[in-house]
Amino acid sequence: MSRTCTARTGDGRPCRATPQGDRPFCRLHDPAQAEAVAAARRLGGAHRRRRRATDELEPFRGLRDVAAFQAFLELAARDVIAMESSPARVRLAVAVVTPATRLLERSDLAARIARLEVQLAQLADRSERAAPPDADPPERVDP
Ligand SMILES: [Zn+2]
Repeated sequence: MSRTCTARTGDGRPCRATPQGDRPFCRLHDPAQAEAVAAARRLGGAHRRRRRATDELEPFRGLRDVAAFQAFLELAARDVIAMESSPARVRLAVAVVTPATRLLERSDLAARIARLEVQLAQLADRSERAAPPDADPPERVDP
């Protein structure tokens, strides 16, 4: 017969979780685990708060344009920053920074090209007005 935890839940019903080893309580109800359970709850709460905070800052906007891509990478960067220090964290940081750098370079280039196109159009417009094409067509010489 399978044993169950001898503690009662918050609403007074018997806990139906499996006790740990030969202990009478499940991990959640074991007074010996109280500190670890409280720490895990605090950690979980911190993760949820952080997740909620980042979601409010930048909701996921898809990956259809540069701004949405940047927002996504910023979201990923925040998650990486929130991680505990580890080699995996460093790899993830590089994985986020690499496309973010490329994106910045490309959007900088795109902005410069757009400015040049505007200047080019203005120059073409100005030179057209300075030397307008002949209003009168060349006189036809009848044979
Ligand atoms: Zn229990």
